[in-house]
Amino acid sequence: MAGEPQADCLFCKIVAGEVPATVVRESETTVAFRDINPQAPTHVLVIPKVHYPDAGTLAAAEPGIAADILREAAEVAAGDKVDESGFRIVFNTGTGAGQTVFHAHAHVLGGRGFNWPPG
Ligand code: C5P
Repeated sequence: MAGEPQADCLFCKIVAGEVPATVVRESETTVAFRDINPQAPTHVLVIPKVHYPDAGTLAAAEPGIAADILREAAEVAAGDKVDESGFRIVFNTGTGAGQTVFHAHAHVLGGRGFNWPPG
């Protein structure tokens, strides 16, 4: 069923506590944890507890949870005090864009400068 945990999904296992993660925030619908391979001083992933393969399919099925992810991303930035200097929220979608884990997630990156356009 849509949104149900997937046995072979790493992020579903993090939600279930079966794979360890450094959790910085949790809400009724989301978990935020530090990326294992950080690309900036702040690099946190905000994921929905429900399973959808990417941000677009999540937003189509559960728009409220997609909004929760954006709110939690802003709270992560404030918690790490990178909100005033500026931060980036990234949703890689599809292998061509660099998505490697097919459970929707927002990257929250901050604490350094960023180029535009992104690489
Ligand atoms: O957008 P993409 O799918 O490439 O992002 C997946 C992210 O999940 C990577 O930045 C990777 O470092 C992170 N990851 C993690 N903990 C794991 C496995 C992957 O933080 N156990």
